[in-house]
Amino acid sequence: MLPPEVLERAQQALVDLDGSGIGILEHSHRGPEFMAVLERTEAAVREVGGIGDEYAVLFVTAGATPHFAWIPQQFLAADQTADYCHTGVWSGKAIEEARRYGTVHIACSGAPDFTTTPTACTWSAAPRYVHYTSNETIYGTQWSAPPTAPAPLVCDASSDIFSRPLPLANHALIYAGAQKNLGPSGISLVIARKDFVETGRTDLPPLDQYRTYVAERSLHNTPNTFGIFVIGETCRWILAQGGVTAMATRNEAKAKVLYDFLDQSKAWKPHAAKGSRSLMNVTFRGATKELEATFLKRAEERGLSGLKGHRSVGGIRASIYNAFPASGVTTLVELLDEVERGSV
Ligand SMILES: *Cc1c(COP(=O)(O)O)cnc(C)c1O
Repeated sequence: MLPPEVLERAQQALVDLDGSGIGILEHSHRGPEFMAVLERTEAAVREVGGIGDEYAVLFVTAGATPHFAWIPQQFLAADQTADYCHTGVWSGKAIEEARRYGTVHIACSGAPDFTTTPTACTWSAAPRYVHYTSNETIYGTQWSAPPTAPAPLVCDASSDIFSRPLPLANHALIYAGAQKNLGPSGISLVIARKDFVETGRTDLPPLDQYRTYVAERSLHNTPNTFGIFVIGETCRWILAQGGVTAMATRNEAKAKVLYDFLDQSKAWKPHAAKGSRSLMNVTFRGATKELEATFLKRAEERGLSGLKGHRSVGGIRASIYNAFPASGVTTLVELLDEVERGSV
């Protein structure tokens, strides 16, 4: 979900960007109108994330997945090792890509059930970097704090970016596909330490090097101008709500209502273990397949959609991103309770 205010601003901008009489889809990406959008978006991202000058803010025309390969391709030489925390589907995909370029050491793993984020990791002797997925969108687990690692951290924050304060310390690079918490699909936000970016390979095509985005302000080729506009509006909305600290308070309260219900329920069982539970994706199962089917059917009737668990794990998944209202969680809990009562 995106905030209704942001959708309305986007709708308006399609027709007329900032009173220019020309829509965001029509403006040149080199013109003053779009430059203003880029500047205010970067400023809003920096303000929301508390991001200083040592970091670059980049807008990359791609989802999160290509970064799985771009990162090791640039930063992991064939004779080097990178440590990866394996907490589910997304880190699994990142690991697969990294293996093409160098040695991958699995520092910790929640396999095969992925009910927890690991509490202890075993690091390799000299990792080039440590990669982790801050929120496992599919299994519904989330690191409560980043791993304490002996090397710069690289984080896939696609599904919890700006849902709580950004833990920049020790991070070399944070990347996030925009479509979960920030804007449309097909664009990602990258927050990268400039000095780390400088250590990357220089013999790759320009768009496969983060340094090109840094040097050319994400304008080496035509960027996803609409995506940048929406990310900016979403960040401004977050600031208007009181910033990421206020987001975190809201998100904790929303998730608590749902987890509290699940913990006392006899029919519904949460997937993630206490201490590892995601505030963004709440995953759970019904006591029977029939119960899950009944619930999903009634949910659609009530206008609650997208609750079927990911095809790789099944069950139910409630994605309660930043813009999802507390009232929606209440409706969801009422329905879960109703289905449970009907079943006993
Ligand atoms: C959704 C998601 C991705 C994949 O994003 P795409 O934009 O489809 O490439 C990667 N990592 C995480 C954590 C995600 O939630």
